[in-house]
Amino acid sequence: MTALAGRTALVTGGSRGIGRGVCERLAADGALVAVHYGSDDVAAGQVVAAIEAAGGQAFAIRAELGVDGDADTVIRRLEEGLRAYGGTGRLDILVNNAALADSGGGIGNETPEGFDRIFAVNVRAPYFLIQKALPLMGDGGRIINIGSGVTRIALPGELAYAMTKGAMEILTRNLANEVGSRGITINTVAPGPTRTDRTAHFMDLPEVGAMVAAGQAIERLGTPQDIADVVHFLAGDAGRWITANVIDATGGSYLG
Ligand code: NDP
Repeated sequence: MTALAGRTALVTGGSRGIGRGVCERLAADGALVAVHYGSDDVAAGQVVAAIEAAGGQAFAIRAELGVDGDADTVIRRLEEGLRAYGGTGRLDILVNNAALADSGGGIGNETPEGFDRIFAVNVRAPYFLIQKALPLMGDGGRIINIGSGVTRIALPGELAYAMTKGAMEILTRNLANEVGSRGITINTVAPGPTRTDRTAHFMDLPEVGAMVAAGQAIERLGTPQDIADVVHFLAGDAGRWITANVIDATGGSYLG
């Protein structure tokens, strides 16, 4: 039997990049995966099709995050999808992955509107998604937030983005105490530079790739699979005793 057989997972931003890698990994482990996305129906459909072609189960949930009612929309569509597969509506694994990476260029260029938007997508949306998902979660559930190495490394121009990821680290630590009595764990996995369809256009430039790799202990860019394997570990039974942590999954970025 596969490790997550009979379990359910919701992955926000599951249609591309790291989120896609996480969806495919959890589905390969046997979970029924809800692939959340914002607007790209084709990309989400491709993830569901790839999972089904590999023998897994998945369905897509379209919902814009960062707008009023976003968490309610996701949860409503999640419950509809789970019931369509004959489930009870129980959610075992929530992966908060979707995020905006645009920091508006740093404090010199940021606008109040841009600042509010990145906090609405990266902090407010996962906060209320967790609030509304907790009643659906069985004992022993898993909440996994995708953070970023930028909370450890002060990159120019990434200030507001780094602040949103820092807020999620505080949420991770504080909420662990509240949900721990139910055996629910909550952790943040912090990737470093990861080659995805969003980042490939600049990470594939030889000078950029070489510069990034030179700052890595493991001298290469990360892949979505590198991150998905960490999520797989935390989501499974082997991760039951790990909570309130930020797991650095940067491959050793800028260790000095
Ligand atoms: P991508 O930009 O490739 O994918 C973003 C996903 O999130 C898509 O599924 C997209 O759906 C969805 N999404 C984005 N904004 C919204 C929104 N407002 N409402 C609903 N859905 C939305 O992400 P990455 O794979 O690059 O990053 C994934 C996570 O990893 C993020 O949390 C990021 O901060 C973190 N990270 C990434 C690094 C990297 O180098 N790639 C490094 C460190 C951390 P759609 O396309 O349909 O809009």
